[in-house]
Amino acid sequence: MILEINECEDASSGCFAIGGGIKKVQITVVYDNNACKEGLEVGWGFSCLVRNGEKTILFDTGPGRSFLRNMERLAIEPESIDIVILSHVHGDHAGGLGSFLEKNCEVRVYLPKSFPKRLKDKVAGYGAKMVEAERSLEICENVYSTGQLGRLIKEQALVVGTEAGPVLIAGCAHPGIVKIVKAAKELLEHEVFLVMGGFHLEWSTRGKIKKIISAFKDLGVTYVGPCHCSGDKAQGMFEKHFGEDYIEVGAGRVIRPGDLQ
Ligand SMILES: [Zn+2]
Ligand SMILES: [Zn+2]
Repeated sequence: MILEINECEDASSGCFAIGGGIKKVQITVVYDNNACKEGLEVGWGFSCLVRNGEKTILFDTGPGRSFLRNMERLAIEPESIDIVILSHVHGDHAGGLGSFLEKNCEVRVYLPKSFPKRLKDKVAGYGAKMVEAERSLEICENVYSTGQLGRLIKEQALVVGTEAGPVLIAGCAHPGIVKIVKAAKELLEHEVFLVMGGFHLEWSTRGKIKKIISAFKDLGVTYVGPCHCSGDKAQGMFEKHFGEDYIEVGAGRVIRPGDLQ
């Protein structure tokens, strides 16, 4: 079942404004290459959970069933999830979707429009509602998708309005993390408070990473939490430049943006 969506009509800036009545937002990293808590499985992939008082949103599903085992250890019930968003088609982000839908198919799944038909059919086969994201769109109150960005590997990122400011969560940042930050800033006409997730800098040179860090500063990003495919080198450089505004992100990490101010 494909649903009608509130899509951004005009691709120019400021399509959405952060609405009033923002409740406390809590982000829990469920799966990552590293862990911030003992007893959790780690591996190449990413998955996190966003609770904003209205909806419980799962962003990416890791490479397979392992994120479900981590959810159990973190006392997160799959049945409590209302919305699933897949950043892009790669297995380290979308691989666990089938296992999740076996547990809970009463969800709305947002996936990039460019997803192959066989995967869309799979979602439909579980009876889950599906939204194909092309341009930026509103997912629920104060939660948005950037729409699918990039050329070769199309990817959407999640933008969450929080009491501290917009939080941007990237899956693997194939379109380029700076491009994604710019898109999020334009979408809400507001500087991004925290950028977290995969920055895809594992194989980048120090020179390139330096340019990205200064672009973050120019764009007014306050906090950063690079993880997954960001790479040790980039994580170290971001930590050096952001100092106390650098957040170590890994499985089990809980971030309350309101507490960071
Ligand atoms: Zn990827
Ligand atoms: Zn990835």
